[in-house]
This record gives sequence, C-alpha cells and structure tokens, in this order.
Amino acid sequence: MKKKILIIDVAKCENCNNCFLACKDEHCGNNWPGYSRPQPLHGHRWMNIHRRERGQFPFVDAAYLPMPCMHCEDPLCMRVSGKGIITKREDGIVLIDPDKAKGRRKMVNACPYSAIWWNAEEEIPQKCTFCAHLLDQGWTKPRCVQACPTGALSFCELEKEELREMINSQKLEVPGKRSRGTFPGVYYRNLYRYEKCFIAGSVAAEKEGIQDCVSGANIILYKDQKKLQEIRSDAFGDFTFDNLSKDSGDYVIEIIHPELGSKKINAHLGSSYAVGNIFMP
Ligand code: SF4
Ligand code: SF4
Repeated sequence: MKKKILIIDVAKCENCNNCFLACKDEHCGNNWPGYSRPQPLHGHRWMNIHRRERGQFPFVDAAYLPMPCMHCEDPLCMRVSGKGIITKREDGIVLIDPDKAKGRRKMVNACPYSAIWWNAEEEIPQKCTFCAHLLDQGWTKPRCVQACPTGALSFCELEKEELREMINSQKLEVPGKRSRGTFPGVYYRNLYRYEKCFIAGSVAAEKEGIQDCVSGANIILYKDQKKLQEIRSDAFGDFTFDNLSKDSGDYVIEIIHPELGSKKINAHLGSSYAVGNIFMP
C-alpha cells in the first residue's frame, strides 16, 4: 500500500504559523471519534515550528523547522507504550487511541522528537494525526498543508520504491540526530538551512580614495586543498558558503577578479560567522 508522506522545505518556511493555526482550527474543541479527542486551546503545538538564528551582524539569517509527529516507520512511542495504545496504519499514519491511552502521562517522554503533548483536561497524551479523519473522507492533504502559503509543506502518497527515488533525486533528509532509529516518515528539503553552518563575507576595493563593493568576483572555498564550492559575489560584494558542518575547522577562501587580481585568506569555522570585508587586491 502507498505511504502518506509529508515533505517540508526548510528554505520556503517563513514562520507565518498558518500551519499551526490550521491545526488549532481543526482540532481545538473538535472531537474526531476513532482518531483524536479535542486539542486544548493552549500549550499544545502539534505542528511545532522550531527556530534558529545563524551568524552574527551583519551576516545573520533565521531558519524555521516545522516539526509535527514524524509518523515514524518504527515508532519509539509505539515500542514503549502498552499493546494497542498506539497503532501504525498500513498507509504510515501513527495514531494514539484516546480511550486506551487515558491516564498514561509517561507516554509524553517516549517520543525523541517531543511530538507528544499531555492534555490535562482529558488526561490523555496527544499528537498530530496527519488529519487522518479528513484523509479517510477523501481529502488529499492535512489542514496544515492546505494552509501553507509558500509551498513549504507538501503531501503525497508513494510506493516504497517511488519514495526511495524521490529521496535520492530531491536530496530529502530527516533530522538525524534525534531519530534514534525510528525512521521518520516526514522528510525535509534544504535541511542544511537549519542544521548546518555558513561562512560569509564581503569583497571590496578602493578606487581613487573611495571604497566600493566588488560584485562578480569568483570566490572559491577549499578544505584540505580540495575545492568545495565556487560562487560569485553579489551586487553588494557579499558571498555566503553554506551547508558546512559545525566545528569543521580550517578553510581557505580564494577571491579572483579579472581586474583586481586574486587573494587568499584563511577561515576557521566553529559556528556560522562572517570573515568581514576583504579588500582587493
Ligand atoms: S515522532 Fe514520536 S510520536 Fe510520532 S511516531 Fe515517531 S516516535 Fe511516535
Ligand atoms: S504555513 Fe508554511 S510557511 Fe507558514 S510556518 Fe507553516 S510551514 Fe512555514
């Protein structure tokens, strides 16, 4: 049977929270028998948007990582809860049975993604259901996906082989550190925007006593004398090498300009930072 898959593009998420609000609209005060009990108005984030700033002024960016229940292939929550309390459907959706889960507060700690929330009023653990009550009525996507204005969220049904092909061709990833062997069923595009680091800088030159930015310079990043990335400075002379590992140590940056000559500088990467202004030649 085809699996229902959520794909999240980190580069397209603007932190507008429409997905979060659509989830609230669908689940707060609404009982969906066989799927979920009402979500409380406050405290729960079934679609939880994590935020991270990278770099230092003036080279700063913010990345957002929307994270619902990952509907894992081998859910840790299911392994540690009692029999039949959590089920994984043939289409991949993982559901908590609200009646059987009554009073089981410890289940909140069972998820490595912190995707399970405690509903004190109902005395049950709760989480994202992929809006299974809607999908089972013929909806093609959950409410969060329908509400996303930027296309950061997309939803599809794929056979195992099709999914494998998509993972390879679109370079999809899962947030690895936390998965603890659960094999998440939610995949991310451009995950480096959240998990990796950058080295940025600006190229400038002085002409007749006036300092100006240098656009179109060829800039190459080397590590251990191996060329890693090659980019051009933009209209403001700025450049960014992204998708680098935290604490990855020493790099060399080479700047080549047809009129201004070339220059090499050393960089050392702990976390995202800027090398500052590089004056040519
Ligand atoms: S993300 Fe957590 S709650 Fe969801 S299926 Fe995986 S282990 Fe269970
Ligand atoms: S609706 Fe889309 S763009 Fe807005 S926060 Fe959610 S995932 Fe990000």
